[in-house]
Amino acid sequence: MLLYINVYSIMRGNRTFTMIKPTAVKKGHIGPILAIINDAGFKIIAMKLLRLSKEQAQQFYAIHKERPFYADLCTFMSSGPIVAAIIEKDDAVNAYRELIGATNPANAKEGTIRKLFATSLQENAVHGSDSDENAVIEGNFFFSDIEKF
Ligand code: GDP
Repeated sequence: MLLYINVYSIMRGNRTFTMIKPTAVKKGHIGPILAIINDAGFKIIAMKLLRLSKEQAQQFYAIHKERPFYADLCTFMSSGPIVAAIIEKDDAVNAYRELIGATNPANAKEGTIRKLFATSLQENAVHGSDSDENAVIEGNFFFSDIEKF
């Protein structure tokens, strides 16, 4: 059974990782965002509500540490609770990036999650992994094998 879980959890291509960011949580958008994710055909594999410490946010976004917005982003992402989740669908990374829209909500298509719920480029409602590899790394940052279903 343990072997089965481990093999399954490293399968790639059909899972991505998302966070509902602090402003969207504070504004009461967890339910509407999860409804959009559900209606788009994603299955929830893992989910939790938690608050990142500054250090944890810095670790999660370490790839951006040379960018000018890194400090502000880490302060923002540790400013309140977030929802972290692993979600599953065919071609999950691309399908979810399509559903959330462009990083800058000003450029996001009508009907996308960021167009509907973002309040700024930084406070853009949700995170979505940008590759299968990062989806695995990011999911494992938040969830152990026994928290994935
Ligand atoms: P994503 O993959 O669409 O989330 O975009 P990136 O990986 O490029 O950036 C990570 C996160 O940093 C974004 O989702 C935004 O919250 C934030 N961000 C990106 N670019 C900027 C910027 O130019 N200014 C600020 N303040 N935040 C940014």
